[in-house]
Amino acid sequence: MRLHRFIVPGLDLRADSLGIADRDLAHQLRSVLRVKVGEQIIVCDGGGTEAVGTVREYREDAVIVEFAAPYALGTEPARAVTLCVAVTKRDTFEWACQKATECGATKIIPVISERTVKQNLNLQRLRSIVREAAEQSGRGVVPQIGDITKFEELVAFHAGERYIAALGDAANLADVYLGDEVTVAIGPEGGFSEREVAAAKENGWVAVSLGSRVLRAETAAAIAAYLAAR
Ligand code: SAM
Repeated sequence: MRLHRFIVPGLDLRADSLGIADRDLAHQLRSVLRVKVGEQIIVCDGGGTEAVGTVREYREDAVIVEFAAPYALGTEPARAVTLCVAVTKRDTFEWACQKATECGATKIIPVISERTVKQNLNLQRLRSIVREAAEQSGRGVVPQIGDITKFEELVAFHAGERYIAALGDAANLADVYLGDEVTVAIGPEGGFSEREVAAAKENGWVAVSLGSRVLRAETAAAIAAYLAAR
């Protein structure tokens, strides 16, 4: 049977037995998943290391777990990938963040662009979706969800190796030689405007293609994360 897996950022897995003071985790284990004392779980420290643990005791706000030797995970991409995704309808945006997490994104920045229709987001819900996706997919870290950022600020102030996914005859992201840290921007349902693509290029962003077909914004986000993290 596949063991339930959790990411508890900052946990020191070198200790043999540990009280994890996390009320939500204790509740989820005990009352939702009904993991009994004596059963095993996997806990990751959010820094690329995990260990198999045996649940020894439940307390009010904590669970006591006895750990076997920790081991390094090999599931994190070598490259840090920041995905800047224009906010779309709630379900498609959440889907994009979930899939981008599975595909290796390190950080996701929600962006308000010219053609963004929906402007608000439930960041807490989004963080929990991303955390579950990281746990489910065996990630060693939970991608960070950045602040909601206006497109103009993003293109003007974001530094490093930056790409903007846009329809056209630019090089395919799959064929671009990438460094250790890359940023890729994905437009909303109606795409980036010509003015936005031009402004990005003026600020050092490079236009890239994701292939010859027009992908939905959420599909583009997942594919871009996958190609950038490769
Ligand atoms: N009609 C819109 C347009 O002309 O841009 C289509 C937008 S598409 C549904 C949403 C976003 O996904 C785009 O802004 C772009 O960032 C990305 N995208 C979708 N397909 C793409 C492709 N083949 N190459 C590059 N980016 C793509």
